[in-house]
Amino acid sequence: MLSNLKAWHRRRILKNEPVSDDAWQSALSRLKCLRGLSLAELEHLREKVILFLHAKQISGAHGLIVTEEMHVLIAVQACILILNLDLDYYDGWVEIIIYPGEFIRDYEYVDEDGVVHLTREPISGESWLGGPVILSWEDTVVADAGVGYNVVIHEFAHKLDMLNGDANGFPPLHPDMSRQAWSEVFSKAYADFCRSIDENEATEVDSYAAENPAEFFAVMSEAFFETPLSVKLYFPSVYEQLALFYRQDPAQRRSIS
Ligand SMILES: [Zn+2]
Repeated sequence: MLSNLKAWHRRRILKNEPVSDDAWQSALSRLKCLRGLSLAELEHLREKVILFLHAKQISGAHGLIVTEEMHVLIAVQACILILNLDLDYYDGWVEIIIYPGEFIRDYEYVDEDGVVHLTREPISGESWLGGPVILSWEDTVVADAGVGYNVVIHEFAHKLDMLNGDANGFPPLHPDMSRQAWSEVFSKAYADFCRSIDENEATEVDSYAAENPAEFFAVMSEAFFETPLSVKLYFPSVYEQLALFYRQDPAQRRSIS
């Protein structure tokens, strides 16, 4: 009974709150991460975007007016991660806040001598456990330039990671996945990556991935959707685990498009 009601509610949202063709086409033409998706997948993505926009509240900070085109551009990138997962992967929070540009965060850290320092840093995105996703619009529009950088995908990957507590690079896996395989693959890839950074070697993904395992997962997720062929080539085991988790094979659709 409940599922009938849910299906009815879903149909009503899809009918009453459509995404305009203009906003949809604008997002399609701008986003490289959508290349190679079939018409059926794009239709499925569009439905997800409508349901996502119904469930979330997107607001501008510092006087930023968020247009329909901006809503859709953000929603499409958030939904590409869950194209083949349920929308309830984004349950438990509603707010997305958009700043015009980078925003300032105060950080406290303790140095080796035990002294607490307060620093102020400009950042382009942030995800809170059980709270909002915060994005810089300036960084959102430069994202997806095909170099593996995408702040929206990055922050929403953190949201998926946080489904089982603090972000640690270990999201809840599907029953047909092995926790041991995930752990071994990511631990080794992260250690190798940190070693490359320490030795000043050129890396295929953003060096920020060396920050900690949570950032490694988020940066790898960005690259998985943005530059899948190079992730598959340089980090094949990581690619394989991400393909199982996201239930998608972006390298395959990119190589035939
Ligand atoms: Zn991050």
